[in-house]
Amino acid sequence: MRERDYYEVLGVENGASADDLKSAYRKIALKYHPDRNQGDADAESKFKEAAEAYAVLGDDEKRQRYDQFGHAGVNGQAGFGGGGGFSVDDIFSAFGDIFGGRGGSTTSFGGFSFDELFSGRRGGRRGASLRVDLAVTLEEVSKGVEKEIEVTRLDTCDSCNGSGAKAGTRPESCSMCGGGGEVQQSQGFFAIRRTCPTCQGRGQVVKSPCPSCRGAGATRKREAKKIRIPPGIEEGHVERLPGQGEAGEAGAPPGDLVLVIHVEDHSLFERHGPDLLCDVPIRYGQAALGASIQVQTLTGQVEMKIPKGTQPGQILRLRGQGLPRGDGRGNGSLLVRVSVDVPKKLTAREGELMTELDEIQAKKRRASGTTPRDADDKGKGLFEKIKDIF
Ligand SMILES: [Zn+2]
Ligand SMILES: [Zn+2]
Repeated sequence: MRERDYYEVLGVENGASADDLKSAYRKIALKYHPDRNQGDADAESKFKEAAEAYAVLGDDEKRQRYDQFGHAGVNGQAGFGGGGGFSVDDIFSAFGDIFGGRGGSTTSFGGFSFDELFSGRRGGRRGASLRVDLAVTLEEVSKGVEKEIEVTRLDTCDSCNGSGAKAGTRPESCSMCGGGGEVQQSQGFFAIRRTCPTCQGRGQVVKSPCPSCRGAGATRKREAKKIRIPPGIEEGHVERLPGQGEAGEAGAPPGDLVLVIHVEDHSLFERHGPDLLCDVPIRYGQAALGASIQVQTLTGQVEMKIPKGTQPGQILRLRGQGLPRGDGRGNGSLLVRVSVDVPKKLTAREGELMTELDEIQAKKRRASGTTPRDADDKGKGLFEKIKDIF
């Protein structure tokens, strides 16, 4: 069976934003939701097809691979065990937050009705997302690294399991609104419905608050987390860890933990994607005669051939000595930009030889007639001029 283009499946443009993708997916999922289309195999397969498309396009890294290589780039990576053999329950546990349900591994589709899943109002606000900026060195980019970070976040209160009610008690249905979360007020001819001021729309009130969290259902916790950073990561890369942000209100889903990666500048190497650029000074003689030199890489040293007649500013490429490419296709190059050292001081012997060489070269130039006369051809020789300077 020919696989349909994922963008086509979701009915969006190739450049669609993350929000557009999400809302397009939500619309399709609503339309073909199994609860609305019971026993309709066609609807179920459309529902799954959309989930698979969103599993890829909703993930920055997978989307990039898909844009580059098509289905071949993301084969079996939709995140449901591959091969399309996932169930409707898998989809709900993976995308719980899109459906307004709790998400994560604790709940599956089976426990929620259609209305609950899509109402987005399961007692309280979703938890806030937390952003952590993480700096890595180029050496760490080259090999990948495991970093430990500390996050202080609101987490579900252990004493009351997030209900906010004291042990042995439960939140009670709000008497003001009868548990509906809204109250109706009559003003003249109008009846206005507004959020219940007693329970703030939750429909429940806590009579005896939990002493640990003072009824909030969540407490601040400091937590160490290990974060695995793969080789070749780019500056500004964003990694979203779903559900690892702050706890939601009264059992609402938690926010995400968002990691933003920063790659620190290096004293020797400048990064250009998978390539590294460095400057290496060589002597005039090495540039003219050719040479073999040792070049510093991120991980050690390698030997490099300087071809005869290498020019200042010329860039020589050492393949495979750059950074790993994100897609696993080997390493980039080390680009060595050659500069030629001009000595600031010469010994008498060096001066003599340099003068002799310079005279030969000046004669050669005059004979070829292709370059203008040197200003110092009359009067003092190069060696005299050098002596005047020092
Ligand atoms: Zn508590
Ligand atoms: Zn109320």
